[in-house]
Amino acid sequence: MIKKLLIANRGEIALRIVRACKQLGIQTVGIYSTADDNLMHLRFVDESICIGKPNASQSYLNIDTILTAAEISGADAIHPGYGFLSENAEFAERVEEAGLTFVGPAPEHIRLMGNKISAINAMKKAGVPTVPGSVGSVTLANAEEQAKAIGFPLLIKAAAGGGGRGMRVVERLEQLLSQVQAAKQEAELWFGDDSVYMERFLKNPRHVEVQVLGDGEGNAIHLFDRDCSLQRRHQKVLEEAPAPEIPEDIKEPILQACVRACEQINYRGAGTFEFLYEDEQFFFIEMNTRVQVEHPVTEMITGIDVVVEQLKIASGYGLSYRQNEIEIRGHAIECRINAEDPVTFMPSPGTVTHFFMPNGSGVRFDSHLYPNYAIPTFYDSLIGKLICHGQTREQAIAKLRHALDELIITGIKTNVPLHRDVILQDKAFCKQAQNIHYLEKNLLSQP
Ligand code: ADP
Repeated sequence: MIKKLLIANRGEIALRIVRACKQLGIQTVGIYSTADDNLMHLRFVDESICIGKPNASQSYLNIDTILTAAEISGADAIHPGYGFLSENAEFAERVEEAGLTFVGPAPEHIRLMGNKISAINAMKKAGVPTVPGSVGSVTLANAEEQAKAIGFPLLIKAAAGGGGRGMRVVERLEQLLSQVQAAKQEAELWFGDDSVYMERFLKNPRHVEVQVLGDGEGNAIHLFDRDCSLQRRHQKVLEEAPAPEIPEDIKEPILQACVRACEQINYRGAGTFEFLYEDEQFFFIEMNTRVQVEHPVTEMITGIDVVVEQLKIASGYGLSYRQNEIEIRGHAIECRINAEDPVTFMPSPGTVTHFFMPNGSGVRFDSHLYPNYAIPTFYDSLIGKLICHGQTREQAIAKLRHALDELIITGIKTNVPLHRDVILQDKAFCKQAQNIHYLEKNLLSQP
């Protein structure tokens, strides 16, 4: 088993990883920037090291400094969490070159999936259905021909893209070339790689994804699926598991295909296959090679601790479960709690004055907040995740409504009112799952 783990992250996920380590008797090393010496998880780690200035490029994204911190502390493994360096193949490689264990997939698989064009090609080979789209990368020279084959409207996406950024919808052929050019410039600027590709723009799909675990030796299992269709600007706001109202005979082959794809490439660790689901068809869009923000909903319905499994797999223990031992129990929903204005969505960092954490059976609040905690301005606005589990979706919704009433966070603005007063009061959403445009089109007032 890993003896001492460096947690190369901050916020709620750093605390989440500490909790898993405590269960397994793994010692922990926390790292933090100069803006972050007040982080909750630093109180529980065995040692902590300041790694640099607030700007992430000078701290949480600085590979050299993080590796030095690992060396100084004598850590034998690094968990990257999500965001920051979690899907950086070079980081994974450097960790391994330094003789340490990277808690995640092999660098080649991070690289394969990090480029969405190569990811889509790999999935096609493995027999996973993909969105009808361009073949290879799109250039100004081949864009028209490719677009005609796909049809309009279509979506231009950055091969190296992430975080919902750099996508452009093209309605008509006349707009195509200028949009491809703009998309390439944007992609170069944001991701340092100007390759773009195109997909049919699906009108009303849901976002449905599959959680997998692989042992790196050709064995893999799935932990069923999640629905993450409630999004704003392609960013998830609320997630649930299992994805409601999908016929078994349509879902099961997709779950199997994801497992097979992992087994074929000897995938190691946790991963997520993301799909769009429309008219009872699944279309692969990308694979995330890390633990995701929304992993707790899967944990609540399966009883399996995804981070513990990541650590066990990285330690060489393989998979703790066989597929036929994993069952879905009930339904779980997660609300992402952000420090932001619930109407304008402007970030709202600042000091939390009062804080009360909701509680009760089937209620989980993954968060690093505490009274008088000062949220720095430099990082993501996610400050917590409220997850409720019930025997049915209705029960999970009822618990969430009440848990959101119990939750008190003052001193800053949060999106709690959006969850409590808008989403969880919406009759259509409470009745059944909605598509990826529903939140923006029907529940938010501004474009
Ligand atoms: P990112 O890596 O930036 O998150 P994704 O490929 O995962 O990008 O897409 C993010 C979101 O954008 C999806 O969840 C979905 O809402 C929307 N989206 C992506 N591809 C399509 C498509 N072909 N048609 C319609 N919507 C799409």
